[in-house]
Amino acid sequence: MAVKLACLECGQGNRVPDEKLGAGPKCGTCGAALMPSKPVEITFDILEMARRLDEVPLVVDFWAGWCGPCRMMAPEFAKAAGKMAGKARFAKLDTEAFPQSGSKFGIRGIPLLIRFKDGREVSRQAGAMPADGILQWMSKDK
Ligand code: ZN
Repeated sequence: MAVKLACLECGQGNRVPDEKLGAGPKCGTCGAALMPSKPVEITFDILEMARRLDEVPLVVDFWAGWCGPCRMMAPEFAKAAGKMAGKARFAKLDTEAFPQSGSKFGIRGIPLLIRFKDGREVSRQAGAMPADGILQWMSKDK
């Protein structure tokens, strides 16, 4: 079985065999890591592609530089990304750089985490959380 996922750097759709997800797969177009073990800063356009295409869980942290709790959560988010390496992808979207994300996703406050899979929003969680809280939240509603 192969799964589809968009490259978080160039947006190109890629197909990766299930068993290769944990083996450092790379984008066929730009060579970027497809399953990075760290959160990746993405643009609104990349998010639009990835959330529609991805068959691997995608967790997006909607944040902004002026938001203190967002900055506090950043290392926890990175820790959670390391723990889920090869199983899920973690991305960060700067809501100040991409203000269109606010109305598109009905964002009322940040930090906000939204989990996408198979072209739909699986769940969302507002407010800063420790890494353990993020992992616990991810283990629900699969
Ligand atoms: Zn790429």
